[in-house]
Amino acid sequence: HLNRELVDLNILVAEVIAERTAHLRFTRGGPSDQLPSIVSESLPIVDADKAMTRQLLDNLIGNAIKYTPAGEPARIVVSAEPDVGGWIRVQIADRGIGIPAGDQPHVFTSFHRAAAHTSYTGTGLGLAICHRVINRHGGTITASDNPGGGTRIQFTLPVSALPAAPLEPAGAGTGQS
Ligand code: ATP
Ligand code: MG
Repeated sequence: HLNRELVDLNILVAEVIAERTAHLRFTRGGPSDQLPSIVSESLPIVDADKAMTRQLLDNLIGNAIKYTPAGEPARIVVSAEPDVGGWIRVQIADRGIGIPAGDQPHVFTSFHRAAAHTSYTGTGLGLAICHRVINRHGGTITASDNPGGGTRIQFTLPVSALPAAPLEPAGAGTGQS
C-alpha cells in the first residue's frame, strides 16, 4: 500500500544526487569534471510515498547519467511547475543520447529497451517501476525530447495541502539581518 506523507522533493533529489555522485567517484575514479552537473530548481513538497518517490527519482536520474555518452559529464536539470489544481509537474531533463520518437510511448512498458541503445546494458524495468509508482499516486508520466537535445521525463504528483512556512515567526527577530 501507499505510505503517504509530506515529502520534500528538494531533500530527496539532493540525497539521490549525493548517492549517485559517490557511486560514480568510486566506480569511475578519474577527474571530478566528469561528474554529472545536476541543477535542481526549487521543488515543492508533495503528498506521496517517500520510499517510492526516492526510487522514482533514483531511476530517472540514473537513466539520465547512464544514457549520456561516457567521457561527457551528464547535464541534468530538475524543475517543477504547477499543473492542474492540487498537482505539480516535475521534469527531469538531460542532454544525453535521447529516446527515438518511436520508442517514447513504449519505454514505460516492462522490458522495452530502445533498439538503438543495445550498447547500454539494462533490464528495461526502471521506467516500468516509475510508471507504476506514479500510477499508484494517480499521476501521469511521459517521455519526450528535451528541446535542448536529450530526453525529458515529466511526471505529476499531488502537492501537499500545507501552506509554505513563514520565513520568520511573527514578532521574532531583532530587526537585523
Ligand atoms: P534498467 O531496468 O536497469 O533501468 P533500462 O535503463 O534499459 O534498464 P528503463 O530505465 O526502463 O530500462 O528505460 C527503458 C529504455 O528507455 C532504455 O533501455 C533506453 O532505451 C530508454 N531510456 C530511458 N531513459 C533514457 C534517457 N534518459 N535517455 C535516453 N534513453 C533513455
Ligand atoms: Mg534504467
